[in-house]
Amino acid sequence: MEKPLKLLLAQHGLNLKKAYGQNFLTDENLLADIVEKAGVTQNDTVLEIGCGAGALTRVLATSAKKVVGYEIDQRLKPLLKETVGEFSNVEIVFGDIMKQKIAEVENKLGGEYVMVANLPYYITTPIIMQFIENAKNIKAMVIMVQEEVAYRLSAKASTSDYGAITVAINLRGKAEVVLRVPRDKFTPPPNVDSAVVKIEIEKDKFSGVDFSVVRDIVRCGFQSRRKMLVNNLMNVYKLSRADAEKWLIDSGVETTVRAENLTAEDYIRLSEYLLKKSIKK
Ligand code: SAM
Repeated sequence: MEKPLKLLLAQHGLNLKKAYGQNFLTDENLLADIVEKAGVTQNDTVLEIGCGAGALTRVLATSAKKVVGYEIDQRLKPLLKETVGEFSNVEIVFGDIMKQKIAEVENKLGGEYVMVANLPYYITTPIIMQFIENAKNIKAMVIMVQEEVAYRLSAKASTSDYGAITVAINLRGKAEVVLRVPRDKFTPPPNVDSAVVKIEIEKDKFSGVDFSVVRDIVRCGFQSRRKMLVNNLMNVYKLSRADAEKWLIDSGVETTVRAENLTAEDYIRLSEYLLKKSIKK
């Protein structure tokens, strides 16, 4: 950025809002690193969520074909005009990304795109779930999250970090931690360190699967993650132990498993059995 962030904010009479998770990045090397890890090229359209003062937006603008950014804080309009106004390939929409329909966001993007976002921590999970479940044209999500969340998103089965969100990601692609970012890289510094996670979406991974059924089973399993899955299935689907055990055995998993022991593929087999046997909640 041409001007230091503090000067820019002072000139526009702005103070940063904690409620919007406004912890901004200024380190040009780090910003370039994030865009490089995102693998953004001149052929790519980028969806940026939370443009802030536009530091990441500027780097994206020079690397991508087009950038569509969403920013909730209307006060940043004049500042963003100053920092990214010179780029004809940047369009900023002022509004809450959580209130937009994904289909409308995707219309604006006009085809395949990569999401790059230094997200406010309070919307990390809902944003990931919304896009994982509903986005049609997304190629990858490259998102800055709290470090502990990064480990959850990219966890392996049978670890304590593995959860419903990990399975949801694995149903459409895979997540990897690509960069660790210490808290002092932000202005103001948050209370925790962060990491950038890249979620690659694999086109047509598990095509033909009824994801709503899979999600129901995943939710059922993780609602009491300490319990064996067989007990959760018995409760939620009103089954006898024998029937719930048969469901597991015929799906190729052991009767003693907990939700965290199963991969996305295991959950898909469980969902296929449910559909075949017309099991209802
Ligand atoms: N991209 C900038 C950077 O890296 O320096 C800012 C990142 S800051 C962590 C998050 C940004 O997201 C803030 O500018 C905040 O105002 C914006 N934001 C927060 N909630 C939002 C929402 N629901 N929709 C769109 N933007 C949001």
